[in-house]
Amino acid sequence: MTSIEIRHNLFDNPEVSGTEYKTVELIIKKLQIYHPDILTSDIKDGHGVIAIFKGKKQGKNIAFRTDIDALPSGHRCGHDGHTAILLQFAEYIVSGNRPETGSIILIFQPEEETGNGAKKILQSKVLQNLHVDYIFGLHNLPGYHLGNILFKYGTFAAASTGFIAKLEGKQAHAAYPENGINPAKAVADFILALDSFKNDDISNFKQITVIHVNIGEIAFGTAAGDANVMLTLRSFTNKGMSELINNVTSELQQLANKYSLKVSYDFQDKFNALENDDVCVDIVKAAAKELNMTTESLPEPMRWSEDFADYCLKWHGGFFGIGSGENCKPLHNPEYNFPDELIDIGAKMFLKIAEQAMVD
Ligand SMILES: [Zn+2]
Ligand SMILES: [Zn+2]
Repeated sequence: MTSIEIRHNLFDNPEVSGTEYKTVELIIKKLQIYHPDILTSDIKDGHGVIAIFKGKKQGKNIAFRTDIDALPSGHRCGHDGHTAILLQFAEYIVSGNRPETGSIILIFQPEEETGNGAKKILQSKVLQNLHVDYIFGLHNLPGYHLGNILFKYGTFAAASTGFIAKLEGKQAHAAYPENGINPAKAVADFILALDSFKNDDISNFKQITVIHVNIGEIAFGTAAGDANVMLTLRSFTNKGMSELINNVTSELQQLANKYSLKVSYDFQDKFNALENDDVCVDIVKAAAKELNMTTESLPEPMRWSEDFADYCLKWHGGFFGIGSGENCKPLHNPEYNFPDELIDIGAKMFLKIAEQAMVD
């Protein structure tokens, strides 16, 4: 199978986060042809693959990561294409580009869409005793000129988290509400207070989106006794996210005291901010220049999140975009499809980045 055929095979057999069984099988089958020095799918509680090509002498260990999971609607984020890029890169490595020193580590990561995959990969045995100097990754970006390399110093993608607030009062007969504790006013106050924690300024961007609210039950004889408020919190920095969480939870606590409610809260789909290392962005730009590719600087971070962020907290990381064309449907759109032209562009970028990073 060529890389394009692999991409189409993955597109036709999408597997959502946590169920990447056949995807891993296909990746392993393809990688076995290239005889990497290490090839493992031993990922605790997950379905991913790590392949390592070693040089003869000590040197830099440079990792490249792709995500491999699909959405319930199919491969509508292009991870099928990203996977094909990393496999094409593996082919380039064994076609006369094996590293002389150090090593090249290929990471096929599951569960990106839920934010769990990077953490699982980072716990894998094979990476425990390995010093990784740099890690690079990419995402295709609809709306930008096909094949343009899109770089961004600092934050590439936002931190975000689902936030679930639970308020517990006391249910009562609707005719005797004074005998209960109704959380409705606290919910109203809470939602109105959220605006004061937001910030539209790009340098300190903080966003709160109300996702779902539920108060009591649909029963006209009953005064509400409990409530849930679900929010998505977003910030361009990890520091900003901590501040946002502090603001929201202390507001909740104050309202609980005021209205004699019990409160608890929980998080879901928690992502760190993807903060690029300047040196890695320089390497990406230098690689694109060597390949005569057009580069573009992204004016502001992506508002969506990427769990590549977790690698950047541990290693020097560089994440960049490749334009998927002005007419490409947006990511996660049910009609989105990855443009095959990007497979070779991405693989050549990774190869050139590996060269540049080894000598850096
Ligand atoms: Zn996605
Ligand atoms: Zn994606």
